[in-house]
Amino acid sequence: MRPIQDAFPLLQTPKKIFITTHHKPDGDALGSMLGLALYLRKKGHTVTPVSPNEVPGFLAWMPGIDSLMSWEAESKKAQQALNDADLIFCVDFNNFSRTKFIEQALDEASQPKILIDHHLVPAPVWDYGMSIPEKSSTCEMVYDFINLCNDNELIDTEIAECLYTGVMTDTGSFRFPITTATVHEMIADLKHKGLDHSKVHDLVYDSWPAMRMRFVGYMLLEKMELFPDYNASLMTLSRKEMMRFDLQAGDTEGIVNLPMSIANIQFATLILERGDEVKFSFRSKGNFDVSSFAREHFNGGGHFNASGGSLKMPLNEAVAYFKEILSDIHPS
Ligand code: 5GP
Ligand code: MN
Repeated sequence: MRPIQDAFPLLQTPKKIFITTHHKPDGDALGSMLGLALYLRKKGHTVTPVSPNEVPGFLAWMPGIDSLMSWEAESKKAQQALNDADLIFCVDFNNFSRTKFIEQALDEASQPKILIDHHLVPAPVWDYGMSIPEKSSTCEMVYDFINLCNDNELIDTEIAECLYTGVMTDTGSFRFPITTATVHEMIADLKHKGLDHSKVHDLVYDSWPAMRMRFVGYMLLEKMELFPDYNASLMTLSRKEMMRFDLQAGDTEGIVNLPMSIANIQFATLILERGDEVKFSFRSKGNFDVSSFAREHFNGGGHFNASGGSLKMPLNEAVAYFKEILSDIHPS
């Protein structure tokens, strides 16, 4: 992959640009995609942001979301936008399989592909890009990209809201160790540009349906298993339970982090039943590498302290399999 600066000549004249991100997009995925789209439009490009599937309700307010297409819901139109594009930007993922429905189309697309991402172990499929696992978020990297293009003054409050959303959600509201002084300097700059950070926080974290709060209570009271010998916790969620609480896209976001607030818990797992497979989410503190853990045992990957994976097996088997593996490790 060549450095992203080598792609700058391609952006000198107005281009048709297709931007996409990972399946089940989160705050950083949507923030980086929409923030980049708003910026590239200001530069005169025609931009189509495409999400593999639907957007969670708590992110539906985001600036530029009206122009977003869902590949799952409008695959013909989205495929046409991809065919028509001169350039493809990929943000917040580093393996085509993470886009699920778009994987094959990306594989077949012949246009130059540009990556902006902070996950470990990128696939060797991009022509240009930035892949920096030390970065807090892809939104921080989109900010860096805009600055590299000497366009800091083009960042307006809408772009600032998009970028702030991803940094806030990926850093656990600025508490994870990955939150550097540079991140705080970026946020200070966004504040100078008119960002209302409190409004964004309220829209993302304090706008829940009452049922979701009851669901969290249920998970903590009824479903949280602790393994003190391993400093670990496990929560599981079946399809039946999801229906009981009428869970919508994004409603399980953040649940995996909650047990990490318990003293001495340094490794948290959430297992979700999804169709004919189970989805794993892992979080850790300190030097337990859950990215390798997810890659080795759960067909996944991600970051050192936050990762995920999936396996095709029933939920009860997945729980037994997880416990077997847990008994072999000693996170510290
Ligand atoms: P989450 O638990 O929030 O779904 O994901 C945590 C992190 O792990 C995210 O950065 C996400 O990109 C990554 N991740 C989640 N699921 C998978 C997966 O199935 N495969 C890979 N490679 N990464 C994943
Ligand atoms: Mn991210």
